[in-house]
Amino acid sequence: MERRKTRPVFKGKVQVGGGAPVSVQSMTKTHTEDVEATVRQIHELEALGCDIIRVAVPTMEAAKAIGPIKKQIALPLVADIHFDHHLALESIAQGADCVRLNPGNLRRRAEVEAVVRAAKDADISVRVGVNSGSIRRRGRQQGAEEPDLAQLMTDAAVEYAGLIESLGLRHIVLSLKASDVPTTIAAYRAAAKRCDYPLHLGVTAAGPIESATIKSAIGIGGLLAEGIGDTIRVSLTGPPHEEVRLGHEILQALELEPGGPHIISCPTCGRCQIDLVSLVAEVKRKMPNVEVPLTVAVMGCVVNGPGEAAQADVGIAGGKGFGFVFRGGTKLRKVPEEELADELIREIESILRKR
Ligand code: SF4
Repeated sequence: MERRKTRPVFKGKVQVGGGAPVSVQSMTKTHTEDVEATVRQIHELEALGCDIIRVAVPTMEAAKAIGPIKKQIALPLVADIHFDHHLALESIAQGADCVRLNPGNLRRRAEVEAVVRAAKDADISVRVGVNSGSIRRRGRQQGAEEPDLAQLMTDAAVEYAGLIESLGLRHIVLSLKASDVPTTIAAYRAAAKRCDYPLHLGVTAAGPIESATIKSAIGIGGLLAEGIGDTIRVSLTGPPHEEVRLGHEILQALELEPGGPHIISCPTCGRCQIDLVSLVAEVKRKMPNVEVPLTVAVMGCVVNGPGEAAQADVGIAGGKGFGFVFRGGTKLRKVPEEELADELIREIESILRKR
């Protein structure tokens, strides 16, 4: 898929836009003032593949914690600012790599100018982060049509970014997050037509893990499939490591990053005569932890199974108390059910040795 051309912007050492790989972000869920807990969570997220971390800065104490946190982490750190520009100034002084400003609640020109001046001096970037909840629908005449929320969000983001750029700072990333998927998609599509700023994708307040997975897969994944988006954050009510895991799963599903072995398994039906659910769980558990793309099929029976298994790099298709192992389109051998998972893993390891 052809990706939208954007200007490169740096968050610390990580390039966003300008053709860089799509990065995965998350946000800590600790109190930023608790340096030890925040650093611990950032290290955990980094180990899982988080590329950029954001921390909330609701107080001056949180802003002052950024310095000690930065000394103990390698990831670029974004300070999340609302309402009070002094928090942005202190975060920049403490070494933040980027500040996120919300046009909905940080509007006074003199304050924006002060933050932009400090960001320019520190040579860091700004994310203009619009949330649907902080956009005010102003000036509606009685009887007039409800203004389009996506359009209002886009206008707010692009105009605010224009102000920042007119003050001499070009390193700007935009986000336009709504809590519903159609508005989010419409806002990002409109912004993509109007500027070359890299876009940080996300659906805000997406809910607990089940609904956040679906909303993010459609919202973030749909935009990425159109070539829109340079960095992503899945937001969910749950542990932040799930945000990072889902972010990478979205990128892997779109083949925007290689990922590791990918299991395709059938839903099972009345023809299935092996315990496929346990078999898939066992294969998943024993799968080598490598970043080599490999399609592994685990199919319940010989009706569709061999076809799918044969199209995968390696696979198994169940029978009654036994199954067949396939590799590269060739049926290799018949194996008792209880040995199928281990036989499959053996084939995978043999493929990995040759790659
Ligand atoms: S592969 Fe066989 S068991 Fe699995 S869904 Fe298809 S027909 Fe049913």
